[in-house]
Amino acid sequence: MCPECGVAGAWHPTYTEAWVLLEPAQILPAYIVPPRQRWLIDGNDIAWNTGDDEPAPGAPRRIAHRLVCPGLERQDLWPWLTALELENARRAQRQADQGTLPQLPDTG
Ligand SMILES: [Zn+2]
Repeated sequence: MCPECGVAGAWHPTYTEAWVLLEPAQILPAYIVPPRQRWLIDGNDIAWNTGDDEPAPGAPRRIAHRLVCPGLERQDLWPWLTALELENARRAQRQADQGTLPQLPDTG
């Protein structure tokens, strides 16, 4: 059971002597699961994170419940997108400060 939201689930041991609560097994395309968030269960029933490596096609990869727990604040899973968003905000502010913002079309 998740201590944050109370949802029932199975905790799995890991090779780092920690435990991880995983969402039920799903075969998700690797591209929709951010690197370092993909978990597999090996033949010893130990959960291990594939890191930056993509699991074999068709492998039932899982995600940690904490990524989708309603009792926790959502993690920034794509930090490079956040960095780009912040850079664009800075660029837009610089353009506004210089009075060089382009006219946007009326999208009505
Ligand atoms: Zn939870």
